[in-house]
Amino acid sequence: MSVVFVISAPSGSGKSTLVRRVLDSDPKLAFSISYTTRKPRGTEKEGQSYHFVDRESFESMAAADEFLEHAEVFGNYYGTHRGYLDRARTGGQDLVLDIDVQGAAQLKEKIPDAVSLFILAPSRTELAKRLRARSEDSEEVIERRLREAAEEIRHYRRYDYVLVNSEVEQSVDRLRAIIAAERMRRTRMETAIRPILQSFEETGG
Ligand code: 5GP
Repeated sequence: MSVVFVISAPSGSGKSTLVRRVLDSDPKLAFSISYTTRKPRGTEKEGQSYHFVDRESFESMAAADEFLEHAEVFGNYYGTHRGYLDRARTGGQDLVLDIDVQGAAQLKEKIPDAVSLFILAPSRTELAKRLRARSEDSEEVIERRLREAAEEIRHYRRYDYVLVNSEVEQSVDRLRAIIAAERMRRTRMETAIRPILQSFEETGG
C-alpha cells in the first residue's frame, strides 16, 4: 500500500527545494502534479510543476469527482487528481503531495493513514529575507505573503510533523528520516513480515 505524504508550507519556507531533493534521490517516491487555474509563472512548463487548465475545465473535472481534494488558494483553484494516487499504488510507489492547509485537511479526511508535514522557516525575519532574496515578487507581494504565512502557520497543529527549515542539508536528512520511519510502521510492514514469519514456521521454530 502506498504511503501518502502531504506537505504544506508558507511560500518561501524552502518546501520546493526539499521536496525536489528527496524525490530526486528516491525512486520509490512519486510526486502528484496538481491541476491549477493559475497562469504559469516564469519558466514553468505544462506538466512539470502543474497542469494548467482554465476554470471551466477545472470545474467540470471537480463535478466529475476527479479530484482527491481541491481548494481555492489566493483566488485560483488547485486540485490533486485521483490518477496520481492510482498510478502510485499500481507502481508500488509512495506519493508526495505539495498542497495547502485546506487540501491537507480534506486529504486526511479521505485517507486517515496519510502522513502530514508542515515546513516552517525559523522566523518571520528569516522568511522575509528569503522572499526578498529570491527577488521574484514586489515588496507589496512580499508583505502579502508574510501576512498569509502568519495565517497558515496557525494551522500547524493539524499536522503530524513540523520541520523547521533552518539549514537545507539538515532538513533534507530530516525529511528522509521521516519518510523512512513512516515506511517502517508496523501496520505498513505486514507484507514484508509475512515471508519472514513463514520462514520461521517452516523450520518449526
Ligand atoms: P503556487 O501557486 O505558489 O505554486 O502555490 C500556491 C499554494 O497552492 C501553495 O500553498 C501550494 O501548496 C498550494 N497547492 C498546490 N497544489 C495544490 C493542490 O493540488 N491542492 C491544494 N489544496 N493546494 C495546492
